[in-house]
Amino acid sequence: MQHVRATYIDGRWGEGSGPELEVGSAADGSVLARFRGAGADDVERACAAADAAWPAWAATSVADRVDLLRRTADLVAKRADELGSVAAQEVGTPVRLASTVHGHLVAATVRDVATTLEAYAFEERIGNSLILREPIGVAAAITAWNYPLYQLATKLVPALAAGCTVVLKPSEVAPLTTIAFFEVLAEAGLPAGVANLVVGTGAEAGEALVTDPRVGIVSFTGSTQTGARIAELAAPGITRVTLELGGKSASVVLDDADLAQAVPASLRGCLMNNGQTCAALTRLIVPRSRLTEVEQLLAEAVAQLVTGDPRDDATDVGPVASAVQRERVLGHVRGALAEGAVLIAGGPDPVAEAPAGGHYVRPTVLRVEPHLRIAREEVFGPVLCVIPVDSEEEAVAVANGTDYGLSGAVWSGDPDRALAVARRLRTGQVAVNGGPFNISAPFGGYQRSGYGREGGRFGLEEYFEIKAVQL
Ligand code: NAD
Repeated sequence: MQHVRATYIDGRWGEGSGPELEVGSAADGSVLARFRGAGADDVERACAAADAAWPAWAATSVADRVDLLRRTADLVAKRADELGSVAAQEVGTPVRLASTVHGHLVAATVRDVATTLEAYAFEERIGNSLILREPIGVAAAITAWNYPLYQLATKLVPALAAGCTVVLKPSEVAPLTTIAFFEVLAEAGLPAGVANLVVGTGAEAGEALVTDPRVGIVSFTGSTQTGARIAELAAPGITRVTLELGGKSASVVLDDADLAQAVPASLRGCLMNNGQTCAALTRLIVPRSRLTEVEQLLAEAVAQLVTGDPRDDATDVGPVASAVQRERVLGHVRGALAEGAVLIAGGPDPVAEAPAGGHYVRPTVLRVEPHLRIAREEVFGPVLCVIPVDSEEEAVAVANGTDYGLSGAVWSGDPDRALAVARRLRTGQVAVNGGPFNISAPFGGYQRSGYGREGGRFGLEEYFEIKAVQL
């Protein structure tokens, strides 16, 4: 079992003063770490440290901050395999993917923030006004358990780049890679107090952080329900909030699409990180005339997937992060079957061949009607809903028919037709015919998927106040 220190405050590691926490292995349920988490007192000290460090950090040159970020990115890249193997255990990400998404992608994102910062125009003229961008001050970052380091790279890193100091509270379910990232920041030479870590519960450490009067902005990733609570807590202090929340993203396959390309790619977009991806393509909207072909392709593709131990190189689909999450996912699947969903592949039975004690769910494909609960609510597990429709018009209406709006995809033999449909989707991102993820593009939600943007220039700009000086 790993010995973990729950706080890094003002450049020093320390034990927490809050409730005891346990980090479990998604793979086999064993205990990876047990420690006292950060309490409200620790959060208070962390905010004081960040507040004290802010004036000097805000006064550093862009060139110095760019250098520090590039050193950080190099150190993350060096530790990518180690970070991947820790994440395989605490998140459940198959190890073949883990060093990429929890290591190299994180390093690339940190590097991208450095490049964005280097080119950024902090000042501009509008008529007789000089427009200045100034760092907000202390930023609070609260992250979820599915991609802890990528979220850190899109919150803490741009905040530091902008000249803010930071207090970060990771999810208590999977904090171990975040702790390693703070070791990296210290090694890269980040001055004391500039980035502070409190590993604690949402109810104690999280609420203390959001309501601390020194915090100027809260950047949150997590569930829509918690996001609403955070916005409510932040309101009396007029504290800014950015919310990256849940999703129910649709992959819209038009009748002229190449199914051999669109169907497997949509399934991968759903099952990535075992379905624990906010932007997962969890609804596959297909022409009813091609439903049989689609379902056959899906059944064949699922039959080839290896579900099991995330530490094994052969694994395609690993466990979800916790027993609670596994029960939530299975509850959704059982509920859908009771409501009339048709099982195409997988199902709620246990994964007999996977290690005992792990939180495994079979990759599952269901045919559903759009009004079913599972077609509207986020599942956050390896479950794909196929929804047949009779026209392009209906496809767009169904795609737009949930409370969310985070991501999506459109497939057509005619790229112009696909783009026209992409324009009609009420969502923060859309991939046309498999257009790849772009770390520099703005990422964020419409509707109940949240507000604010992360990534590239848009992500950096969240951390600025804007001043107009009339000359
Ligand atoms: P969660 O909302 O339970 O927890 C997220 C974080 O908030 C954790 O650090 C938690 O400790 C903290 N928290 C909980 N209650 C709090 C409170 N009252 N005050 C302050 N902090 C509090 O979410 P989760 O289960 O960790 O993550 C899964 C959810 O996150 C899914 O809904 C998923 O879609 C969403 N998500 C969104 C994105 C995105 O970018 N849009 C990315 C990843 C995950």
